[in-house]
This record gives sequence, C-alpha cells and structure tokens, in this order.
Amino acid sequence: MAAPELEKQQIGELHDLLLEKQRELETQLASGEDATRPVTLDQQSVGRVSRIDAIQQQQMAIANQQQAILLAKRIELALQRIDSGEFGYCLQCEEPIAFARLQAQPFASLCLDCQSASENS
Ligand SMILES: [Zn+2]
Repeated sequence: MAAPELEKQQIGELHDLLLEKQRELETQLASGEDATRPVTLDQQSVGRVSRIDAIQQQQMAIANQQQAILLAKRIELALQRIDSGEFGYCLQCEEPIAFARLQAQPFASLCLDCQSASENS
C-alpha cells in the first residue's frame, strides 16, 4: 500500500533533520582525521601490544570515517532531491516513502518494500 505524499511542512522538518545530521557528521569527520593518520610509533618507547592496539584503533577509526563519508553523501543527495522536488519518493518504484520511515532515516532513497527487496536479493 502506497504511503501518502509528504506535506510541505513534513519536508521542512526532514530538511532540518538532514542539516542537523550533516553538521554532526562534519564534526565527526573533522575530529576523526587525526585518528586515521598512518600509525607512526616510536619503536623504542612503545611495545608490540600497544602497537597492535594502535593499529586496530586506527582501523576502527577508518571504518567509522568511511561510514560517515558514505552517510554524508547520502545526506547531500537527499538535500539535492529536496531542492529538485524529488524528495520523498522511492528511487526504484517512485511511490512516496512513508514519513515515519523518513523521520528515522531522512536520507532513505528507497521505500521499505524496495529496500527489503534489495537486501534480500
Ligand atoms: Zn519503492
């Protein structure tokens, strides 16, 4: 069953959510830059265990950064779709995406049906 189309006010609300999330990600990306620099450790002062620790932490930081970058891109695309008036419609079936779904994931570009179909395939 198709969801009702978004109202202007709902789009405005989601627009604010997207901007808020975008700012959060920018902060996260800026603060994460240090953590993702190549591990350069002083061999003499750092033992083997803490070196492995440092590398693992760096890998986690890189994974987090990559996720944040991907999300930032999706948010940017969602903001572009708001500008072009395509926001709120599924990219695949072109049906309106439910408001509740967009409140949880304002950057969602697929409706729930298409999303679960693409995850199961
Ligand atoms: Zn769809």
